[in-house]
Amino acid sequence: MNQIDALSDLVVQSGKIVVFTGAGISTESGIPDFRSPGGIWDKFDPNEFTYQKFLSSEANRENYWQFSRDFWPTIVNAQPNPGHYAIAELYKIDKLDCVITQNVDGLHQESGVPEDRVIELHGTARWVNCLQCGKRYPRQEIQDRVEMGEKVPVCDACAGMLKPATISFGQPMPERETREAEARSSACDLFLVAGSSLVVYPAAQMPLIAKSSGARLVIVNLAATPHDGYADVLINEKIGPTLSSMVNEVKSRMEK
Ligand code: ZN
Repeated sequence: MNQIDALSDLVVQSGKIVVFTGAGISTESGIPDFRSPGGIWDKFDPNEFTYQKFLSSEANRENYWQFSRDFWPTIVNAQPNPGHYAIAELYKIDKLDCVITQNVDGLHQESGVPEDRVIELHGTARWVNCLQCGKRYPRQEIQDRVEMGEKVPVCDACAGMLKPATISFGQPMPERETREAEARSSACDLFLVAGSSLVVYPAAQMPLIAKSSGARLVIVNLAATPHDGYADVLINEKIGPTLSSMVNEVKSRMEK
């Protein structure tokens, strides 16, 4: 039996699938992995963009917003790829419980997974928050203000600091999302990793929570992960072609 068949079998048998995604799915949409050569942290020093630095001075915030002029177009111009659409298909055929993602690009929502089925562990680049009053702005609106020459945009309601709704280095993990992700992982019947190397907390522990709660584990990732030994099916291939083939196979079996 080939691996696509093995994966399709597990999907057919499951009704509550949690898909866990990392940078590997977004690179197939042309967003470079932050951490890899050629990625954003190859060009910029991550120590310059910590949460503490952002809070500590006007000059650092200006630096951050200048950096975002480089970073934002990559995100906003990216389109979902066949991997994202295959996951959205799992939702349409009522197999998907939720997507838990380390990505901040919003491409799962773009591909048709409803907002309330996406748990963003590292926040989202699509929105900007006022750190004082909590007012939310579409990111593009604030980027436009920066392009128009505003060096350090502030909240128009309270003049508080504005920061993209991503989780920066040094910023605590969002509590609600992390708890929710753990609860969903422990309640699913299939945990499907797509494009995460599972090395960063809390990503690293989610598959183990699922597995120890009785779920099956599938890992689709180009490179090895520390949890490969726990996988019921392990596929070291690209996400898009793999998940597309799986969804086609699952749908054809469901029609029979
Ligand atoms: Zn405000």
